[in-house]
Formats: sequence, structure tokens, C-alpha cells
Amino acid sequence: MNREEFHVQVEGLWKRFGHRVVLRNVSFRVARGETVAIIGPSGAGKSTLLRCLNGLCPFDAGIVRIGPHVLRAGKRPAPFATLRLIRQRLGMIFQDFQLFPHLTALQNIIEAPVHVNRMPRKEAEHRAMALLARVGMADRGDAYPRELSGGQKQRVAIARALAMEPFGLLCDEITSALDPELKAEVLAVLEDLRRDGMTLILVTHELGFAQRVADRVIVLADGEIIEDGPPHQVFAAPEHPRTLRFLEQVAL
Ligand code: ADP
Ligand code: MG
Repeated sequence: MNREEFHVQVEGLWKRFGHRVVLRNVSFRVARGETVAIIGPSGAGKSTLLRCLNGLCPFDAGIVRIGPHVLRAGKRPAPFATLRLIRQRLGMIFQDFQLFPHLTALQNIIEAPVHVNRMPRKEAEHRAMALLARVGMADRGDAYPRELSGGQKQRVAIARALAMEPFGLLCDEITSALDPELKAEVLAVLEDLRRDGMTLILVTHELGFAQRVADRVIVLADGEIIEDGPPHQVFAAPEHPRTLRFLEQVAL
């Protein structure tokens, strides 16, 4: 897949856990270079949706397209080789960083390029240094995760995702565990990536950030998309009463 053909398209996605329906007929499209914020109450299905997009979670009906690649309903959404290509170009970052605790920041970043992409170690290290600089961590490559603040850990996690040269990033509440000033430094990195053309799909509770930075806001409630529009519309004139209730709760 090349950069030009990258996009995300979801059509009629259904997901159940046992008898519980978690995603109901979810459809949306994210164009290359777009930033889309997904908001909604806890338990709405936001994390499950992100996991379906990069093949971490099988689904029951519908189809997901990542550029030319297709994820289908059923136990195995795509052949292993396709999943690898999708995960390379659509990275995922989590609230709890998921760094390897026994590896330094630099070692965390070179892990996948060296072991998955078979990049020579020296080249991977060279590029990892550049990525650390990009997220404002040039001098912390030798630090272990336990020696870093939450914001620094999250910036290393972003650099690690960038090491695979993704066209898009799925971010699942990546600032929720951080103090306000550390949130700001992580959000600044996201804005910088966006300016450079990265496609961003962000599950977030940072409504101010979503309003300022997102091209579109999707509201997910009980597994259903109840709003999908530009931030000014979703925040100022939502179509669904549930959106108003949710926005009021978050504002409290
Ligand atoms: P959100 O991220 O919006 O808080 P989730 O996608 O994590 O929501 O969860 C949506 C629903 O699916 C919740 O009711 C949750 O309990 C359920 N769920 C999530 N993962 C699993 C799982 N592995 N097994 C069973 N139920 C799950
Ligand atoms: Mg979640």
C-alpha cells in the first residue's frame, strides 16, 4: 500500500461478545490526512472499534478497508501477511503505553523494525534517534520506562509506532492517564504529526483538543454512531439528545 491509497473505510460493522452486541452497524470513512476524534461514554465500544480496524479483534458482520486491504467478518479477518501490512501502516497507541519494561526507550523503538522488518540494527538505531528527537526525547534514549514520566513514556510509545512508518495512527485515550501538563506535551506531538499529513483516529476525552484539532467528531453510544460531523456542529448543535447528555457529563 502506498501513501496515496491509504484511507480507512468501515461499512456495516457488527461485533458481539457472547450475547452482548458491542458494535451495531457502524459505518464511517476516514480520508488520508484526516483527524477524526471518537468520543462517547465508557463502555460504548470505542476501544473495540479501534481494535477491529487493525485486525486485533474479529467482528461478526461488515467490512473494513484499509487502503487496498480488506478485513472481513469471521474468526480470521485477514491472512497473516495482510494483517502485518495493515498493522505496519496503521499503528496503535494505548492509554497504558505498553512499552517493554526491560528495554530502554531506544531498544523499544528498534524492536519491531529489527525483528519484524529485518532492518539492520545500526540503521534502526539511527532512525530511532531521529524519532526520539522528533518527540522531544533526544537525550533519553538510554532510559528505561520506569525512569520516565507518563508523558515521556507516551512520547516513546508514539516514536515506537512511528518507527514502522505508518500512514495512520489509532490512539486509544492516550492522554487519559496523564497529568494536565504532561497531556499537553503529548497532544502537541499529535498536532505536529497531523500537520505533517498523518491520518489520526483518536479516542479521547479531551473535548477541547477535539474541537480545536479534529476535522470530524464521531460520537459512539451503545455501539452506535449517533453523530458524525465537524466539531462545531457536533459540539454546538448535536442531532441526538444523548450527545448533549454526554457533553454535559464530561463538562462537569
Ligand atoms: P469503551 O472503549 O467505549 O469504553 P469497550 O470497547 O472497551 O468500550 O467495551 C465495549 C463493551 O464490550 C463493554 O461492555 C465491555 O465490557 C465489552 N467488552 C470489551 N472487551 C470485551 C471482551 N474481551 N470480552 C467480553 N466483553 C468485552
Ligand atoms: Mg476504551
